[in-house]
Amino acid sequence: MNLAEIVKDRYEKSIKECTNQELYSALLEMTKGMAEKKEISRGKRKLYYISAEFLIGKLLSNNLINLGIYDEVKTLLEQSGKDLVEIESLEPEPSLGNGGLGRLAACFLDSIATLGLNGAGIGLNYHYGLFQQVFKNNLQYETPNPWIEKESWLNKTEKVYPISFGGFQLNSRMYDIDVTGYNNHTIKLHLFDLETVEEGIVKGEGIDFDKKDIARNLTLFLYPDDSDENGHLLRIYQQYFMVSSGARLILDEAVERGSNLHDLADYAVIQINDTHPTMVIPELIRLLMERGISIDEAIRIVSRTCAYTNHTILAEALEKWPLRYLEKVVPQLIPIIYELDNRVREKYEDASVYIIDNEKRVHMAHIDIHYGFSVNGVAYLHTEILKNSELNNFYKIYPEKFNNKTNGITFRRWLLYCNPRLSSFIEEKIGAGFQKDAMELEKLEAFLHDNAVLDRLLEIKMESKRELKEYLKRTQNIVVDENSIFDIQIKRLHEYKRQQMNALYVIHKYFEIKAGIKPSTPITVLFGAKAAPAYVIAKDIIHLILCLQQLINGDPEVSPYLKVVMVENYNVTLAEKLIPAADIHEQISLASKEASGTSNMKFMLNGAVALGTMDGANVEIAELAGKENIFVFGETSDTVIAHYKNSDYKAKEFYEADSDIKRAVDFIISDEMTAIGRRENLERLYHELLGKDWFMTLLDFKSYVKAKEQALKDYENRRSWAKKMLMNISKAGYFSSDRTIAQYNEEIWRLDDGKK
Ligand SMILES: *Cc1c(COP(=O)(O)O)cnc(C)c1O
Repeated sequence: MNLAEIVKDRYEKSIKECTNQELYSALLEMTKGMAEKKEISRGKRKLYYISAEFLIGKLLSNNLINLGIYDEVKTLLEQSGKDLVEIESLEPEPSLGNGGLGRLAACFLDSIATLGLNGAGIGLNYHYGLFQQVFKNNLQYETPNPWIEKESWLNKTEKVYPISFGGFQLNSRMYDIDVTGYNNHTIKLHLFDLETVEEGIVKGEGIDFDKKDIARNLTLFLYPDDSDENGHLLRIYQQYFMVSSGARLILDEAVERGSNLHDLADYAVIQINDTHPTMVIPELIRLLMERGISIDEAIRIVSRTCAYTNHTILAEALEKWPLRYLEKVVPQLIPIIYELDNRVREKYEDASVYIIDNEKRVHMAHIDIHYGFSVNGVAYLHTEILKNSELNNFYKIYPEKFNNKTNGITFRRWLLYCNPRLSSFIEEKIGAGFQKDAMELEKLEAFLHDNAVLDRLLEIKMESKRELKEYLKRTQNIVVDENSIFDIQIKRLHEYKRQQMNALYVIHKYFEIKAGIKPSTPITVLFGAKAAPAYVIAKDIIHLILCLQQLINGDPEVSPYLKVVMVENYNVTLAEKLIPAADIHEQISLASKEASGTSNMKFMLNGAVALGTMDGANVEIAELAGKENIFVFGETSDTVIAHYKNSDYKAKEFYEADSDIKRAVDFIISDEMTAIGRRENLERLYHELLGKDWFMTLLDFKSYVKAKEQALKDYENRRSWAKKMLMNISKAGYFSSDRTIAQYNEEIWRLDDGKK
């Protein structure tokens, strides 16, 4: 049925007479109906992308684009005086992920569907997702983020699996979301859920609830709180619930397609997204043994079926669960985990590759590496660091398992949808081929000396900045000046990402302006970031930025030249508004710490210029766009790794040796700041920076300031800046997730082999 028919059927009204809410519901029904009818690939071997997070963002417009009817629907609505943008704003955003890792999983589903591969996603249906961020008194507070309404993208299925935990059993029901590919197939995202979850158990205004009440809390939030034992246990309950449900589905489907389970690897390949789904390995072994297969063979089968993606080299993020936690939650896996560990111990002397260490902790990544057939990093530099340092002991055992798959993003959402002006201008210049083959963007390079094209790029940027300005005014009551330079840093708040360094720059600039050194073009520094609820220093950094925002924006001497904006509740929707409007994007992690980054790719595609360290995928961006088209600073990963090895970095030495650094750091606890903010938080952050500074902010501060000043200066020559923009856009094709997924398929999944 078309929209007019659905509306007539539902409400006995014309489109014109409907409210936006009614139109949203009707569009949801129409889109779901169309997605259901799209073809699903049915090869012999099927990929299962299993992930604790799928940060899918809003789906209405994305689906309309992928179904090829966005413009048609928009025009139809306009004819009845309705605005699609207003209608889509009614859609709640599912926040089923923290950040990059979850967003990557969502981009991958889009590309798997677009390439017509036989695949599916497996995850959990968190009712409140990640928390919603609220600022009050310059502090972050957390509230639930409900997204499941009576009508939603979820389709309830008849699949229910009993899942056993130590001492009790719960039923897992499967819900499906159809993920549409671009003008092509669809795939399913299977989200498992518990019917006994009770949203009412959340206490008061925050996100506090009884963490022990598993039957009522299991799928309420995404990793709400890992600061105490009950938080950790809940996480393990969630993980096992997900992988046990997923493993049963995988086996059911393989059998349906003709597998006798001995040949499971011909029917299924499982991509384990970080260590959260690692228990799928022992669980599959257990389920195969239940069906009469010997442990030797079960281990062999599973080892040929599972592949692991490593997302981080931060030691604290590589999960290590105390054995006693697993004994409590999943006693049925314990004998298998011991067996897996014993086999490793029989073969290798080196205790660093054992699964269970001598403190009785289970190293999840070690299970993946020993009992999976592939280990991949997510950018060139990251994979090299895994091979040569972080996982070197494993690399020496299994060199053939290690491979790189540089991350990517879907250009449908991150260009066609979020920046239609730029997208149609590109189409005007080089044709529509880039929408299917992103490498065609290179054709833009032919216009490097075409002033009309350069000027139009600047104009489009200005229009996006104006749009962001209106959006921020309307939604957050924030005022920005579109004629200022938009310098944007949006990502999770983490010390390694170094928002604190950007904040110190703001203080540095504040002092300069006070001393009469004014920037030629005013600067607006925009931040967006959520901090994990239990991450104290991250919350202190947010506090610092919010206090600076109040102080600087309220200072008539400074605010005409410098503004600080921290947007509230950074999420996919906000990213879609902020990224097209960026002039400069900050990718300033300490070298060796950011595995890849993906916001860097989104910005590049939208013609923003990076200010960054040689870290993660920035290295590949610099190589592709050319070092002259981005701004690079900071110590190299080799130097940084050596500092850690020798424990010879002392923040205090940098502080004492440089008056600019000292002035900026001291300002954190100045009278001006403590008059606005909370002394306790500011002092804690000050002492952290001076006493520890684990991510070496002060090490790179001077070269950061220098590179930023260069960027601001280069911005003044508008045409030459536009050339940098153009080169970034034209070289961004490599970062399409279609390329990434094609490589996963060719080098790991080999789904086509299964067709024969
Ligand atoms: C792309 C994206 C991220 C990842 O950002 P990084 O800067 O690569 O860490 C995080 N959150 C959202 C909402 C995103 O869209």
